[in-house]
Amino acid sequence: MPDSAAPPVPAAAHELLARWADIAALHDAGAVLGWDQETVMPPKGQPGRGRVLSALAGLAHEKLTDPALAAAIEAAAAVAEPGSELAAQVREARRAVTRATAVPGDLARAKAEATSAALVTWQRARAEDDLAVFAPDLRRVIDLTMQEADAYVAAGIAATRYDALLDEFEPGMTEAMVAPLLADLRDELVGIVHAAVGRGVAVDESAVTGPFPVAGQEAFGREVATAMGYDFEAGRLDASAHPFTTGFGPGDVRITWRWADDDLRPGLYGVMHEAGHALYEQGLPPAWAGTPMGGAVSLGVHESQSRLWENLVGRSEAFWRWAHPRFVAHFPDRAGTTVDAIHPALHTVRPSLIRVEADEATYNLHIVARFEIERALFGGSLGVDDLRDAWDDTYEALLGVRPPSAADGVLQDIHWSMGAFGYFPTYTLGNLLAAQLFEAAGRELGDLDALMAAGDFPELLGWLRRNVHGHASRYPAPELVERATGAPLGADAFLRHLRATVEAVYGAA
Ligand code: ZN
Repeated sequence: MPDSAAPPVPAAAHELLARWADIAALHDAGAVLGWDQETVMPPKGQPGRGRVLSALAGLAHEKLTDPALAAAIEAAAAVAEPGSELAAQVREARRAVTRATAVPGDLARAKAEATSAALVTWQRARAEDDLAVFAPDLRRVIDLTMQEADAYVAAGIAATRYDALLDEFEPGMTEAMVAPLLADLRDELVGIVHAAVGRGVAVDESAVTGPFPVAGQEAFGREVATAMGYDFEAGRLDASAHPFTTGFGPGDVRITWRWADDDLRPGLYGVMHEAGHALYEQGLPPAWAGTPMGGAVSLGVHESQSRLWENLVGRSEAFWRWAHPRFVAHFPDRAGTTVDAIHPALHTVRPSLIRVEADEATYNLHIVARFEIERALFGGSLGVDDLRDAWDDTYEALLGVRPPSAADGVLQDIHWSMGAFGYFPTYTLGNLLAAQLFEAAGRELGDLDALMAAGDFPELLGWLRRNVHGHASRYPAPELVERATGAPLGADAFLRHLRATVEAVYGAA
């Protein structure tokens, strides 16, 4: 938590913080317009909105690369005590400025143009189920991303190309840290999934499938989000094609959702996932809003918050002991269901082709596949010509399924068209960290099952506030993890959780 008795900000830091507040305000303005675009903007608003967003991004970039800001950072650095809040402000500001200045302007423009073209050809390639339509643009995006990564390496931001890619989303994590983690996880998961599938148990999912009127789904979702601690006075829930969370400071953090008419799970767990993200943003210290260290520390830590509420809380038997009477109140025709009938339906293990529809047991294998393929692409051992075969072979090896089409295989994700390589591992880091945090919270708070069954979510939220949210970017993510859990990030807690749930549904090995 921010130290309330913190010493006053040295004069040398005023200039840095004042300049940063303007940059943060421009980002917030863009984020409000981005939210509007995804939720309520009429379709014909697109071209005008694109111009405004690009002008705002240009202004923010200009301010970020202003030599006067660099001078203000160095002046603050000169008076910052090692380990102090100001030292953390300087570290975060320097990192952002170094990243913004490391890439030459013409390279940044070339990448922006290439990705905007690639987004269009990716959509067409997917509709036409033909990787060849996307391949030339993908090749260009990969080439420019490599040049960009090389520029970061040259600027001293990262040691290797893949480190440079990771650094954008998960600062402090390196390929050397992630690769062994995912390799261990891969072997364990393949075993767990194979054993579960081999048992031939058919899970009855009827308690959570069939008609669920949307009004009831929304009301139930709002009740659950409120119980989690999501503050509707500092946020709102709207519909969008792809659920997301966006915030403009801790006082305004908005979430969106979508639902299925005949399945409770996508809507409810979408809301819990986004509300988990939003609790992080609503819990950031208001005093640090608009400063370099005022935001969430990394995408992996962000994802740990959404997955913790969605999977560790929301899919647990204890949570459903609290939720079931509320569920029945919103869906009276489900009065005959029981927690024992619902719980197994939340833990099916079903190897499949599509990442975003994957269950908890197989999800991380989709990420391992992408990580291995990205490393091969950026390590030079794999070219776009062989990408489809590499993808299909990897899926067959990891999940035992072979995509019948490119659309349901290598073309399923938007990320590569946007040049977002090195992004996927953050999903798995989030899953692993969620379980590690949940265990650490249990060590301090006692029986989490009893708390959840009683609906005592503020206890758990309070722990997350003290150990994660309240620190914003005060500490680099690996340090935050060690402070919160007493250990570096590992896969053990996640595997313990997964084995226990899979065993509960499919029986012991
Ligand atoms: Zn998420």
